[in-house]
Amino acid sequence: MNAFSRRGACPALSAPMQTGDGLLVRLNPVAGGLSPKQLIGLGESALRHGNGIMEVTARGSLQIRGLTAESARLLAAEVDALGIAVRSGVPVETGPLAGIDPQEIADPRPLAGRIRTAIEEVGLTARLGPKVSVVVDGGGQLTMDSVTADVRLKATRTGTDILWSVSVSGNGRSAKPLSTVDPDAARDIAVAALRMVAEKGREAHTRDLSARQLASLAGWHSFAPPSVLPDISPTRGEISSFTADSLLVANPRVSTSASGETVGDGSISPLVGEMSGRTEGGAVERPHPPIGLFNLDTSHALGIGLPYGSMPAQPLVDLTKQAANLCATEIRLAPGRALLFLGLSPSACASLQATATTVGFVTSAADPRTRIAACPGTPACASGRIATRDIAETIAKQSPDLFDASLTLHISGCAKGCAHPGAAALTVVGDENGAGLVVDGTAKALPAGYRPGYDAARGVAAIAAAVRERHPGETAAACLARLGAANVAELYRRNQ
Ligand code: SF4
Repeated sequence: MNAFSRRGACPALSAPMQTGDGLLVRLNPVAGGLSPKQLIGLGESALRHGNGIMEVTARGSLQIRGLTAESARLLAAEVDALGIAVRSGVPVETGPLAGIDPQEIADPRPLAGRIRTAIEEVGLTARLGPKVSVVVDGGGQLTMDSVTADVRLKATRTGTDILWSVSVSGNGRSAKPLSTVDPDAARDIAVAALRMVAEKGREAHTRDLSARQLASLAGWHSFAPPSVLPDISPTRGEISSFTADSLLVANPRVSTSASGETVGDGSISPLVGEMSGRTEGGAVERPHPPIGLFNLDTSHALGIGLPYGSMPAQPLVDLTKQAANLCATEIRLAPGRALLFLGLSPSACASLQATATTVGFVTSAADPRTRIAACPGTPACASGRIATRDIAETIAKQSPDLFDASLTLHISGCAKGCAHPGAAALTVVGDENGAGLVVDGTAKALPAGYRPGYDAARGVAAIAAAVRERHPGETAAACLARLGAANVAELYRRNQ
């Protein structure tokens, strides 16, 4: 009997996933946020039924760890009793300040709601894989540019009109632009793209769509009425390589984006992946960390980060109780492993921020922990070979000057690399030989040097010492490149 979801599936409340420290559930409130009372209740449930570890993922989902089959059922009942409706179906995500940010171009929530409804109406949820997602980004102080998605809709102002720029397969920088259209057309193109993906099977994403399919999506409204969504998918196996230029389609109702396709710059981010032992789809880059104070005209939002996306439930409960006393109205989960406390006065923000700093939350965007990606590692994950979080804490304390804006470190319990699937300037990865160091590669690469796992921070300290001596004006990443991978690995390996 296996009532639990397989790896790669979505560890929803109704289908928890087995991990190294028991069952894990992930939930997203339909309302987008939680009341203080609800978050306090969730934290108390996590303490009662799990191992007391709560997480916010790179995409802004809440996770509760260390459950058993029975306790997961009790947790689900308590979530229900708290009045928390959780999202199911294809994720259609909006920004953490959606609808309340005076700087946003458009409130994305109505369009997101219409897309959700359309997805259900055409029965797509069961036909799409669990990692297929849609982002509807209204712009503003906290955009969704860092979050990857199969389909992206971004509000754009054209004169007095607000249109939606539609792109597929990527984040705000790497997604391939299709067209810029009105909300009805944006909804139809999004759903049509998902239908094409569904035709290719549950493993498919929009990256698997062919040039012909993408061109048809870009020109969708030149030949189809908005309410009709015919399945125009080609046969399976039709392949796929295309460029943005190939999508230029003349259409009086559609203004095709003039921007060329961009690709990620390979920069390192602590935001990719998540902490469950499986990826959620990932995210790259963080131009505007959701940490600090955000002006909402009549009140403020205070963004507080969870170090490496994780925090024991008790300090989170205590912090939320203080927020409630300070008249916080809502807590939203934010991509970038953070929580946004809403409805606070400036003095209340200062008070809450001071407490959060004291108990170990991330309250400054300059905190070196925001530059370290660390999965749960051992003992939380059964696949882990090194104590990733302990190593990360030691490095953040001992070598904070390693982390200028050019460099992030990935600490991975094993070669799977859940916390940062892409390449990083420095990756410490656990395997049967100890803590290996990969320079400018992924956790899957062959390490260039090893130390015992308990001693990895000392090796990184030697690298930090060398970086400290860098040339005037040189970034940490440039310094490492100048030193060369072999020398960096030698520094790591030799430091006593
Ligand atoms: S990288 Fe390995 S140790 Fe870390 S969470 Fe993923 S599977 Fe577990």
